[in-house]
Amino acid sequence: MSIKVAVVTGSNKGIGFAIVRGLCKRYKGVVYLTSRDVERGEKAVADLKKEGLSPKFHQLDITDNKSVEIFSSYIKASYGGIDIMVNNAAIAFKRNATESVAVQAEKTLFVNYFSTLSTCEQLFPLLRDGARVVNISSSCGHLTNIPSENLRQRLQDPSLTVSELSNLMREYVEAAKLGTQAAEWGNSSYVVSKVGLTALTKIQQRMLNDRDIKVNAVHPGYVDTDMSSHKGPLKIDEGAEAPLFLALDAPDSVRGEFIWYNKKIVSW
Ligand code: NDP
Repeated sequence: MSIKVAVVTGSNKGIGFAIVRGLCKRYKGVVYLTSRDVERGEKAVADLKKEGLSPKFHQLDITDNKSVEIFSSYIKASYGGIDIMVNNAAIAFKRNATESVAVQAEKTLFVNYFSTLSTCEQLFPLLRDGARVVNISSSCGHLTNIPSENLRQRLQDPSLTVSELSNLMREYVEAAKLGTQAAEWGNSSYVVSKVGLTALTKIQQRMLNDRDIKVNAVHPGYVDTDMSSHKGPLKIDEGAEAPLFLALDAPDSVRGEFIWYNKKIVSW
């Protein structure tokens, strides 16, 4: 029997780090802590080793196609496939950031939506039967955060394709460049990127429905990390609970869903 493999993107710190910790404790397979920065990643692995856990490390920058390609080839040659994939890596500009809306829109959408998508496109061919994909969305990724009724309808259209969704995400970036985004899309690039990721989750599940593969999205709760400027009340291990539930415990019937940190499915 082949060795099972779990991969968590952006897991050198924060919720991703705690997901790796939880997987190392419970998953009967190898767990890859990945990081865009080798030093930060190796330090994180060393920290978990001090706890008696044994994650493996590989460099992975989701915005760098070459990095994803090297990782993909390595996993394919070493193990032949992936059984758990947690798309956790993301960025968020702070409320007081001085970058223009246009810059924030382009960068946030590039990392959180387009790079997560391209990483999935490169790694999904490695998913084995029974695989589980967990997309770390956010309460910000709830559709009600989008003011336009028309956009909400397009985003939840059950026949929406990835290329149509990507075009919608591009439309947002273009609107932000013109300064016309607020009425239809609202004022947060992070919201749009996470709504995009939640919509993507549903499309990915539809595309994989003929296989035994589950793709779900999760709001991990408001967690004490660098991203939240340590304002979130939940500890990182608490933020990892719902993602770990989707990766390890959710019934097979949970497919293409969006769950909250209390592990309950929410309607989108
Ligand atoms: P952190 O900022 O603490 O961690 C983010 C991680 O993503 C870091 O390891 C970071 O690496 C990594 N990362 C960023 N860009 C890339 C990239 N291009 N390639 C690979 N890794 C990258 O955030 P959190 O732990 O808080 O967030 C984890 C996830 O949870 C995110 O998807 C976030 O949107 C989501 N979330 C968080 C909430 C919260 O309250 N904290 C609430 C709702 C959702 P590096 O150290 O190199 O920057």
